[in-house]
Amino acid sequence: MDSKKANRIGTVKLDAQNDQAYRIRASDPELAKSLAQDALEKSTIEKYDKGRADSLRTLGSLASYHDRLAGYQLAIQAISIYSDLNDEYGESSALLTSSLYFQHKGWGIRAQEVLLEAHEKAVRAGNHAVASVALYNLGANARERLDYEQALDYFVRAQSAAKDGANDAIYWVTYVDCESVRFVSTDLECDIVAVEHALDQLLKINSFGNAISACHFIAEYSAFTGDFAKSKKFLKLGLSLANKHDKQSKVWALRHLKGELALNRGQVLHAERSLKTALLRARQTLHREGEMKTLELLSRVYFSLANSESAYLALSKHLEIRNQLSSEESERRMREMQTIHQVRMIESESSFLKQKNEELRAINDQLAQSLKDRDSLQKELERIASTDELTGVLNRRRTLSTGSEMVQRFKSIKRPGSVLIIDLDHFKSINDTFGHSMGDEVLRRFTKSCERVLRPTDRLGRLGGEEFCVLLDQTNEEIARTVAQRLLHAIRQTRTDDIMGDRLLTGSIGLTEIRNRHMTIESVLHDADMALYEAKRTGRDKVCIFTPPTEQVA
Ligand code: GH3
Ligand code: MG
Ligand code: MG
Repeated sequence: MDSKKANRIGTVKLDAQNDQAYRIRASDPELAKSLAQDALEKSTIEKYDKGRADSLRTLGSLASYHDRLAGYQLAIQAISIYSDLNDEYGESSALLTSSLYFQHKGWGIRAQEVLLEAHEKAVRAGNHAVASVALYNLGANARERLDYEQALDYFVRAQSAAKDGANDAIYWVTYVDCESVRFVSTDLECDIVAVEHALDQLLKINSFGNAISACHFIAEYSAFTGDFAKSKKFLKLGLSLANKHDKQSKVWALRHLKGELALNRGQVLHAERSLKTALLRARQTLHREGEMKTLELLSRVYFSLANSESAYLALSKHLEIRNQLSSEESERRMREMQTIHQVRMIESESSFLKQKNEELRAINDQLAQSLKDRDSLQKELERIASTDELTGVLNRRRTLSTGSEMVQRFKSIKRPGSVLIIDLDHFKSINDTFGHSMGDEVLRRFTKSCERVLRPTDRLGRLGGEEFCVLLDQTNEEIARTVAQRLLHAIRQTRTDDIMGDRLLTGSIGLTEIRNRHMTIESVLHDADMALYEAKRTGRDKVCIFTPPTEQVA
């Protein structure tokens, strides 16, 4: 197997491994992490950039679950590689991961920018799954700003991008979000049947976090319309899902809702029980804002129960947390400024790396060019070493080596071949009459004439002086004779009137086909030379074929 093929199989494997890691990152994060780390190592060794980027993207997404900054840093490494590769498909998904960090930090505007970029690239690259999540997160982002119109618009678009299996979880959860946005923004009637259907579908595809959100909304809405039995049923379902799948923040939200609904209906003791559990859960999960909200409801419960001491305690605790959170908010802003600075550092570092990459590439290109130059220089040297300076045909050395190869081919695979030696007639007298340099010019024109009538596979070489050789590969004696006749004609046709007036240029040719008796090219040339001698002896301007002594006898 050649190494290119092996590499291709290697990269196909790495792609599959990365795909698997990315797909299972929510359901089996441990396995996803080890797959991605392994793929990252292998891709680095193989210098397979796409593989590296894919692994980094998955690791970034996994890290984002608990350490957003680490997730962000991994994601931007992936983004930098993808952008070098012009891989918008991968880049869009890494951008999505990086936006989580900004969202988490409360930098809604920055998150929005990145999500818009992710969406644009995902659409261009046909990455529908990422396009739909980007739109969905843009919707959630808008809802957080209380821009319900905008939110609804994004959710509707997310749904349309997620359809046809592009992203089933997004497709179904947007039913919940569209209706809940309609509900909070207009208090209008909602299509709760659609939401219930969406809930069924979300359960089918094991999208539990989204399913719990659906339960939450159905419970809230049903209570609003006075269907308390239904409200209770979905609160129960939501809570059992949240406990079973360890969605702690959802447990708080559902308990809190349950308490709120009971309180609104005057079921104060029920309310107290639910809110106490909600408070506990909020404290366990360090959900300070949740704790604050629940304490406020609890204080109302205690007032209803005429338990003014507890009411007072709950309310003062509520206020304490509120103050704390708002001063923490200012501190957080301060820290954010520092983190923004840190992020900018990371970003400029990545552009520094990019620049270094480009420099490296330029050096690589130069190297490739100089290798190419060296290659062509080498070829030129070879050409010079194998060419006759005066005429440009093969020189003696190259003629002999090429002839040797022909003899070897005849010996090993019985491939036929013939050899001609051409010697110009009375050339000494041409030199003597018209001068040596005129003789040179005649030699040049002679080779041009020969080349014109030779076939592409025939090789013309100069053995020395005005003696030339033609190597006829894949050619038996009979065909070689017709080639020789053509050459004799061409020699006579050579234009020399400007040099020699009406004196005709002629040559004589000795021919032999390569036979079993020939051990080397020299023995072939010897036989051809004998035939040439015969041609000279019997009148010149003709071709003679070598006849071995044994055949002469026969
Ligand atoms: P023949 O018909 O028997 O071949 O007669 P010839 O005069 O051609 O005899 P021969 O082949 O022995 O002579 C070769 C001559 O070719 C001798 C030399 O002056 C001339 N010659 C050899 N090399 C060159 C060259 O590079 N340029 C020129 N102009 N003449 C050359
Ligand atoms: Mg001669
Ligand atoms: Mg000669």
